[in-house]
Amino acid sequence: MTEVGEISGAKPCEEIWAKLVPSDSRYLDVEISSDEIVVCSEILFSSIHKCKWCKITRNSDHSSATIQNKRSNAIVVDGSVIQAEDTTVIRCGSEIVSGIDKEGYLSYRFNVLPGPETCQKQLKISMDAEHAKCCICLNIWHDVVTVAPCFHNFCNGCFSEWLKRSQEKRSSVLCPQCRAVVQFVGRNHFLLNVAEEMLKADSSLKRSNDEVAILDSYATILSNLVLNSGKHLRGKRAHSQVDQEADNASNPCPQCGTEYGGFRCNQTTIHLQCQACGGMMPLQTNYSVPQHCLGCDKAFCGAYWHAQGIAQSDSHRMCSRETFKPISEHTISRMPTSAHENNRHEQVITEKCIAHLGRTLQDVIAEWLAKLDNREIDRTRMPLNHGETITSATPTCNYCYEKLISFLLYWFRVSIPKYHLPPEASNRENCWYGYACRTQHHNDEHARKRNHVCRPTRGTNM
Ligand SMILES: [Zn+2]
Ligand SMILES: [Zn+2]
Ligand SMILES: [Zn+2]
Ligand SMILES: [Zn+2]
Ligand SMILES: [Zn+2]
Ligand SMILES: [Zn+2]
Repeated sequence: MTEVGEISGAKPCEEIWAKLVPSDSRYLDVEISSDEIVVCSEILFSSIHKCKWCKITRNSDHSSATIQNKRSNAIVVDGSVIQAEDTTVIRCGSEIVSGIDKEGYLSYRFNVLPGPETCQKQLKISMDAEHAKCCICLNIWHDVVTVAPCFHNFCNGCFSEWLKRSQEKRSSVLCPQCRAVVQFVGRNHFLLNVAEEMLKADSSLKRSNDEVAILDSYATILSNLVLNSGKHLRGKRAHSQVDQEADNASNPCPQCGTEYGGFRCNQTTIHLQCQACGGMMPLQTNYSVPQHCLGCDKAFCGAYWHAQGIAQSDSHRMCSRETFKPISEHTISRMPTSAHENNRHEQVITEKCIAHLGRTLQDVIAEWLAKLDNREIDRTRMPLNHGETITSATPTCNYCYEKLISFLLYWFRVSIPKYHLPPEASNRENCWYGYACRTQHHNDEHARKRNHVCRPTRGTNM
């Protein structure tokens, strides 16, 4: 008698996470896609007769499962006899025989498939190190920036110094490599990874920490910069009224052509493009008003125009101060969607905790911002750039503010004793993968059953 496995109860849309691979290749693999399945056997020569033979339940470590014998007779798992209704743990490679007498039953190999993070195919490309060098310092790019329209690449520090010298000479900025007029410069995150991979592959190409520190101290390019526009270069210094109007139409910076707050842009003024509205503002390096969000290093114009006393205008794109202000001046009334790794179950639990304490979200955040300022919170996982320097007085964009709120809500939840949690949450075990668990995003049942506001105790991203 030979039996073939078949699954009942599997939801078809879920990802297959494991397989039972029969030793006899004439039979199909039994694919397992739900967290708990019952495998039925179909006795050959009598295809109407089906019966359950085992139940497989995925364990929370996601690399093992618990098998329960659903036959009236014993089965064999990794050489041990498992009696009816008994359970044992199986791991990748475990051998399961659906009956005692090996000759008459199929033997299966339990195979756990790699998670989505490991099955992504990676494309390997090769590149000559000579093509990844900065023509100013002749080293592999460090914090690489790309200039346009010629698309040559340099170290941020090297090009920043070049830019500074051009500014001092009041001349237009030419590409150090091809002498084309540079109209735009920005950090190139793709090439940054390429350069890092190259240094990992050949450490002899690395420069010393001291050299890198000096280079970093020169680097001034945080976000995309818009340099001399074509019109200024063609025209002479004396602008006619008509030229100025033409400039205003093509360049949306309010201070180009019109003086505000004692400042008016000239031919060599560098412009920043606001990340929120797309409008332009002049880069003011020796200026106390922030033009970049410290959390994401992107440019925002709200604080700048507010400081210039310029209200919103119809003729120029500009933000209100609301889009970019100190953390302590932001207000929050609803749970950010990014809170607790987008896990809605955990968000509801946190909302209930706050209500149970008779408090508001704003009030809880204010308390935890004070703890942040007093350096009472571990900042290792803070999802913002320059995490160590951020205080409640730091101006941030709305997006970074929400990310910070989510970070603070993690610490708020971790600090709540279990007996203060709502009843449905007070007896849950921690998921071994904690906040890093991927299953919480696609398996609602798992997300509900396990606590995910905790540190991972298994897995690679601890
Ligand atoms: Zn360089
Ligand atoms: Zn060039
Ligand atoms: Zn301007
Ligand atoms: Zn930001
Ligand atoms: Zn703006
Ligand atoms: Zn989990």
